[in-house]
Amino acid sequence: MGNFVSVIFCRNCSSRFVEISEWTADGNAILHCRSCNTREVLTHFTLGRGNLNNHEMQNARDTMAKKGRYEK
Ligand SMILES: [Zn+2]
Repeated sequence: MGNFVSVIFCRNCSSRFVEISEWTADGNAILHCRSCNTREVLTHFTLGRGNLNNHEMQNARDTMAKKGRYEK
C-alpha cells in the first residue's frame, strides 16, 4: 500500500487549500480555508504536507467522507 495519507478538504467549498493559519493561546491549531476563508479550531490533530499527483488527488476527492457516508 505505499504511503497512505488522508487529505483535508473544506466542507464549505470542497477546496483542498486548507492550512493551519494560526494557533490559539492554549495550543490548538486554527484551520483556515484559503478559498472561502472558513476557520475552525482543531484540537487533537495537526497537518502535514505532501505532493500528490493528479490521480491520487482525484482518489482523495472520490473518497471524501460526508455525513452518513464514511470514506471508502
Ligand atoms: Zn472553503
